[in-house]
Amino acid sequence: MKCPICNQESVRDYRPFCSRRCAYIDLGNWLNEDYRIDDGSLFADEEHGNMSRDHDNGKTDPS
Ligand SMILES: [Zn+2]
Repeated sequence: MKCPICNQESVRDYRPFCSRRCAYIDLGNWLNEDYRIDDGSLFADEEHGNMSRDHDNGKTDPS
């Protein structure tokens, strides 16, 4: 599995990220998306269809 932020191999403790730093970067991106609503331009943006994409850690990864 590759880190979605920097494309390096992910570390188990921080999956799907390679480090806590990348996890925070992703979280930051995520929050920025929400904060953009305050601009007023995307006030009605309630379609977060991709939200649960990274919560798919139910299966065991052999690597
Ligand atoms: Zn990374």
